[in-house]
Amino acid sequence: MEQVKIGLEIHGYLVTKEKLFCENKTDYKQVKPNTNICPICCGYPGARPMLPNETAVGKVIEIALMLGCKISQLPLIWQRKHYDWPDLPKGYQETVSGAYSVPVGSEGKFLGIGIREVHIEEDPARWDPETGRVDFNRSGLPLVEIVTEPDFKTSESVREWLHQIIITLSYIKALDKDAGIKADVNVSVGQERVEIKNINSIYSIVQAIEAETKRQIEEIKKGKQIKRETRAYNEKRKTTLLMREKEEQADYRFIPDPDLPILFINRQLVEEIQKKLPELPHLKAERFKKEHDVQEKVAKVLSSNKELAEFYEKVVKLSVDKKLTSYWVTIELLRVLNWNKKSLPEVQIKPEHFAELLKLIEEKKITEAAAKQMLNEFVPKSFSPSDKLKKVERISDEGEIKKVCEEILKKEKKAVEDYKQGEEKALNFLIGQVMKETRGRADITKVKEILLKLIK
Ligand SMILES: [Zn+2]
Repeated sequence: MEQVKIGLEIHGYLVTKEKLFCENKTDYKQVKPNTNICPICCGYPGARPMLPNETAVGKVIEIALMLGCKISQLPLIWQRKHYDWPDLPKGYQETVSGAYSVPVGSEGKFLGIGIREVHIEEDPARWDPETGRVDFNRSGLPLVEIVTEPDFKTSESVREWLHQIIITLSYIKALDKDAGIKADVNVSVGQERVEIKNINSIYSIVQAIEAETKRQIEEIKKGKQIKRETRAYNEKRKTTLLMREKEEQADYRFIPDPDLPILFINRQLVEEIQKKLPELPHLKAERFKKEHDVQEKVAKVLSSNKELAEFYEKVVKLSVDKKLTSYWVTIELLRVLNWNKKSLPEVQIKPEHFAELLKLIEEKKITEAAAKQMLNEFVPKSFSPSDKLKKVERISDEGEIKKVCEEILKKEKKAVEDYKQGEEKALNFLIGQVMKETRGRADITKVKEILLKLIK
């Protein structure tokens, strides 16, 4: 059998405050349809785009660098990609991909898969075919498109790779997590490649690849030729359906946009971004395995979240046992966070306090059950566990109680005199003062005994 080849075109929403070519907010979740709009993103006749959003361009450079791409030294030219659809009133989408264009990044490699191109483009509006309504809140949002080489051989490897790329890009907070990713997938089993358009989740991407692979193999078995075409994935029927025969790029009539300036990417800017990039999560996981002797599974959990990984490293640096730390971070800390439906940055848990708690366990000054209880109380704000322990620990050491009693007797001479005169209540007063001084931690029967001895 011929080898299966799978390639992806992934679209993700970039995290920016404003849209790509106008000053409207990118927030489309909290607001009613068609509230963050203006003549530019609604495509009014004659409206001109503003200069492209710098943050968005910077994020795409960051993404490309994280994926090992070379950043274009050639000027970037915005292209008008023409098509007619109700979600695109101006009749074209702005993109730096397409004919005559160079992508922001190219020739990358991420976890064994070649990255052909990384580029930036704008999102069209949302059209609801059932009601005919169009919502322009998302029109003009900046998107990144990541195009891979057809290097995947199985749907399973696509799933794992997509999980990893999402984790990796979360390290630079590049993509809007809630918006998820969309992908076009191309699949070939040795003949022409078939493109499956607009799949909305990792789960569906995997399912679509499996359905399309099966379809092509069956067609070939029947002696049919696989044609180059575009299909859609039908989730209910778990099968792909013909949309249209593959358009050539010329169908989009790409032309450079005369209203937008040519972009030159400053080499110094690229170097600055490169210097600030975080360690890649899969490399972090490898390092944890090597340096800290943690298991593969634990290393993966730790590195799957940048804040968690950094928290773990800070605790380990405070010379706490590595095994104990990785267990308490990946199991107990995550348990408490999940229970409270919070993420680590949403609470104030200091690594110093967490380390102190683990040391108390190590030194057997506190049981694991008591430590878990205390960790529960770390949300929303942690505290020094040793201080808290001192506050609740009972004082039963007679020497310590005696010291406090003597101080109180010195201070409360009148009460002592009263008691000697036969006033029983004065003794209760003295006991009360000792308990107050020890914040209620002294053993009360011992306090009474010692006071009586001292007074006589
Ligand atoms: Zn606008």
